[in-house]
Amino acid sequence: MRTMLADHPLIAHKLTTLRDERTDSPTFRRLVDELVTLLAYEATRDIRVAEVAITTPVGPATGHRMAQPRPVVIPILRAGLGMLEGMTRLLPTAEIGFLGMIRDEVTLEASTYADRLPMDLSGRQVFLLDPMLATGGTLIMAIDLVLSRGARDVTAICILAAPEGIAAVDAAVADRIPTITLVTAAIDERLNDHGYIVPGLGDAGDRLYGVV
Ligand code: URA
Repeated sequence: MRTMLADHPLIAHKLTTLRDERTDSPTFRRLVDELVTLLAYEATRDIRVAEVAITTPVGPATGHRMAQPRPVVIPILRAGLGMLEGMTRLLPTAEIGFLGMIRDEVTLEASTYADRLPMDLSGRQVFLLDPMLATGGTLIMAIDLVLSRGARDVTAICILAAPEGIAAVDAAVADRIPTITLVTAAIDERLNDHGYIVPGLGDAGDRLYGVV
């Protein structure tokens, strides 16, 4: 897996407020949104474009427009939903799929409860959104699913990642032909016994939407 650490002072500044336990939900949601737009800028560096001929008020010019087929953005519910707006701000023409996954808090195993993705993802650039790459279980399942539907160009955008999660995804995708890219704002120290990222930011879904 190719890991891109988006190392930028503005990202570090926003991330610090995001981590702070005193940050309320409305501020947390706004910061996630802003951080994702910054991460999306990095994550779309290899977005496919096609050359087009246009005419400016001064004369003919050659430019670039996003190529077909459209990329697919997939937030992993629940917490990934908080990243959707920030992503589609940069990629307004992308198609959006939804994947509902939940982690068992005891076994830390992930399972899928909703799948609204195109059956055929061949030729599509896929962007998976999940704020926290912790054990890697959820992301590995999501990657497996999109690869099984033909995707060969997959980028995961995670606000925070744990070294254990990166190693797990790495091991799971190591012998696959497609390159998987991870774009993250920070690689934290470790996971705790409950599978939470340390120092992390707590439960991203709860901080975005409250405890339900
Ligand atoms: N999911 C979260 O929301 N936070 C963590 O630290 C780990 C997984």
